[in-house]
This record gives sequence, C-alpha cells and structure tokens, in this order.
Amino acid sequence: MSPAVLDQYEMVIGLEVHCQLATKTKIFCGCAVDTGSDPNTNVCPVCLGLPGALPVLSRAAVDLAIRGAVALNCQVQSESVFARKNYFYPDLPKGYQISQYDKPYALRGHLDITTSAGEKRIGITRIHMEDDAGKSQHDGFRDSDRYTYVDLNRSGTPLIEIVSEPDLRSSDEAFAYMTEVKQALQFAEVSTCDMEKGHLRCDANVSVRKKGATTLGTRAEVKNVNSFRFLKQAIDYEFERQVAIVESGGHIVQETRLFDANTGETFSMRSKEDAHDYRYFPEPDLVPLRIGAAWFDEVKSAMPELPQARRARFSTQYGLSDYDVNVLTATRDLADYFERVASSAGDAKAAANWVMGDLSAALKAGDIEIGASPVKPESLGSLIKLIASGELSGKLAKEIFPKMFATGDEPAAIMDREGLRQISDSSAIEKIVDEVLAANPKQVEQYKGGKTTVIGFLVGQVMKASRGQAAPGAVNALLAEKLK
Ligand code: ADP
Ligand code: MG
Ligand code: ZN
Repeated sequence: MSPAVLDQYEMVIGLEVHCQLATKTKIFCGCAVDTGSDPNTNVCPVCLGLPGALPVLSRAAVDLAIRGAVALNCQVQSESVFARKNYFYPDLPKGYQISQYDKPYALRGHLDITTSAGEKRIGITRIHMEDDAGKSQHDGFRDSDRYTYVDLNRSGTPLIEIVSEPDLRSSDEAFAYMTEVKQALQFAEVSTCDMEKGHLRCDANVSVRKKGATTLGTRAEVKNVNSFRFLKQAIDYEFERQVAIVESGGHIVQETRLFDANTGETFSMRSKEDAHDYRYFPEPDLVPLRIGAAWFDEVKSAMPELPQARRARFSTQYGLSDYDVNVLTATRDLADYFERVASSAGDAKAAANWVMGDLSAALKAGDIEIGASPVKPESLGSLIKLIASGELSGKLAKEIFPKMFATGDEPAAIMDREGLRQISDSSAIEKIVDEVLAANPKQVEQYKGGKTTVIGFLVGQVMKASRGQAAPGAVNALLAEKLK
C-alpha cells in the first residue's frame, strides 16, 4: 500500500490486557500460584475442576484487584457478580472460566499517555476478575507428534482483564498505553507484569476507517502478542492488511487472528465468537462480591505511590528535569534505587547522573536488572559523597565505579586497596608541581612569554605524575601561583 493511500485511513485500536495478580495462592482455592513446579503438582479438586468441588474467593486477590482499579482510575463497584464463561478447551477442565460479565468489579477508568503527538486520555471501559486456564504443551516431548500434554498448575491463577475504549489511533499510542498500564500496575504492586512469564498479556482489537468517518469499522482481534515490540508490529501489519482489503472493495471479517513473531504477520485463527456463544450465566457457587467503603478505603490507604504522583514528587522534591524524571520512574525498581542513592549521597542531581549514566550503562552491558545490581545504592551514595568531600576526583571515581560493579565492594575499600585516594594535601601536590616545572623549562619559558595555554600541558604532567590522584583544582591554583 502506498503511503498516500494509507494516509486516507485511520486505525482504531482497543486493547484487552490480562494481568496476573501477584498473590501467593490461587483465586478460588488455596493452591500455590505456580512458579515453575513440576507439572500438575500445584493442584486440588477445585482448580482441577472435579465435580462437586466448590470455589472460595481469595481476599488477597480482591485486594490486589482493587489496587489495580485505583491505579487505573476506575470506579470500584460496591457489588459485582462472577459469571461462568463456557467453552471447551483441553486445558480448561471445568468446561468454563469463572469471570465477570455484565457486573464487573470496576468501571470507567482512564490513563493519560504521552506520544510525539502530545498528551491524550485513554478510556478504560471496565476491569473484571477471572481465573486463568492451564497450559497445553504441544511440543517438547518424545511423543509430541501424537500427544498434547496438559499442565494444570496455572489453572485458577488470579487475573484481571483490563478493557480499553477504542480510543487508540496508532501503534505508538498502543505502545504508550501499554507502558502506562504496566507502570501503574507495577508501582501499585498489583503484578510483576513480567511479559516473558506471561504475567501481562495483550489482545489487540484493530479496525480501520476512512479519516473523518464517525462509525467504527469491523475489527479483527489479534491474540498472542507477548511483547511491546510485537504489539506495534501486529497493529501496523493489521492496518495495512485491512486497508488493502477495503481498497480492493472487500470486507473485513470479524475474526480472531494470531500474531506470528517470526514473520511479523497475523493470520486467521477462527471466526470471532460473540458473547452469546459463551452462554454466560451467573456463577451459582459464588455469592455476589460486595466491596464496601471500609474495605475499599483500607486497600486504597495502604497503596504505594503511583507513577504520576511519584513523577510529580521527583520533579519538585529533587528539582530534576522532565527527562530525568521520566527515565528514573520508568520502573518501580529504578525509582526506588534512585531514591536510596539520592538519600545516602545527599545530592539528588549527582545521584541521577550516576544512576542514568555509568550504572545504567554497566547494567545494560551485563544484561542485569536494576534489582540485581552488584552495586548497592548506598555504596553508590558513598562514592558520590567521596567526590563531594574532595577525597576522590571525578576522574578517579570513574575508575573506581567499574571495580565496584565487578566486585560489589565499597568504594573506600577499593581506594585503600589500590591506593587511589585523591591527594588534596597541598604540600604533597606542591612537591609534584615543583618537579614538573623543573623538568619542563621550555614550557615554563613559553608561558612566561605569554603563551599561557601551555598551562594545560603542565597540569596534565602533574596529574600524570600523581597517577591521577592530585586534586585538579589545587594543581591549577598552585601552577598559576608559581608561574606568576
Ligand atoms: P470481546 O471480549 O468480545 O473482544 P468487547 O466488546 O469487550 O469484546 O471489546 C473488546 C475490545 O475491542 C475493547 O477494547 C474495545 O475497545 C475494542 N473494540 C470494540 N470495537 C472495536 C472496533 N470497531 N475497532 C477497534 N477496537 C474495537
Ligand atoms: Mg476480546
Ligand atoms: Zn487448587
């Protein structure tokens, strides 16, 4: 499709995001949420779907679901109802998922996103709670050509599904929205949002229409989009595919498609089911969920600071630039780390520079998460304090930092071990200055003859002679003094 043709169209995107709540146990039974146990070991009659086993709703799951709703600016409903969503799948032993349908626990939220096109508010239609299914394993076994294995450890894991309004208009906006959702849920400690582990999953509903049109086009729902990058690819691919169909006089089929990460394309999986296909009906084994003001307030008042509030505070409390604030609040772990460095260093600007500079580069090079940084925030704070007190020059600090990163040792220990203390004692520096002046009569001559720029060379010689340990300020002052 030529850009001119594509430009006549607008894409419309609504996202359904599944997020695994960070509880220790499952939503309707006491089994542990699986973190990699042997298949079918974290199971009981309830999550195996054995006849007669009765579900009991986990309070911890509801607590986190409420937090999620608050983090996404939704209205928590005082009464909501669980419903059976009926479908057959080998990894769904009950024959239905317990979800919420016409009375979800949270409605009408929003998140503000920022893209190159500016700031925009994205509506959130609703959030509902549900249980996850198990996992079918089609590969990896000797007889995988003939059998599919089922692991039910995941069955009954608590999820919330966050449904956005069809307010997104580009893959960039979808990306920004997902970023905000993830940040909000991580900061609120609702979920780890680890996409690789499937703790955050996203289905993208995409349609196209001529610019200026007021009705929505028919949508395709793309499943299996398990990274932010794939989300962008899948949406952009869908847009072009749908425009090509419309341009050639065809109709978009409402269907469920799968994204293939290898080709960057989407392909048809099945015609899209409608809600009535699921024969939703209220779950007879669970009473309606009532969340009263007391419960809501208790959860809300115990919530950690949300991303927006934290960004605002970082800018006022620490006087950081918008850019620095955005980088440092990208994840909860990074924001926490930075604050610990700032508080132990007593200098937020220097803390920001070290965290965003040398530390981030080293972490990136080693593919290490900030939470696993070999340099503890307090050690980085000590390094900054040593510079401030004049015991270390900036240059020496840059030499010490990689050693801290490699060993996890305190900067003072490394300085002592390697004899890397900055020399600020002026008599010691004076001695070196005198030696350098004596050894470089030609440059001294030139300086006195008016070529004052040679002082740079002389400073360099002193620094070299002191193995970089002389305090540069003191060296400059002494040289200028002696050359007068
Ligand atoms: P379902 O669960 O069947 O997919 P929903 O009505 O809950 O149904 O819609 C799911 C998502 O699809 C929502 O995020 C919504 O914003 C989005 N959506 C609905 N219609 C369109 C459309 N025409 N184009 C793009 N997205 C749409
Ligand atoms: Mg859907
Ligand atoms: Zn169980």
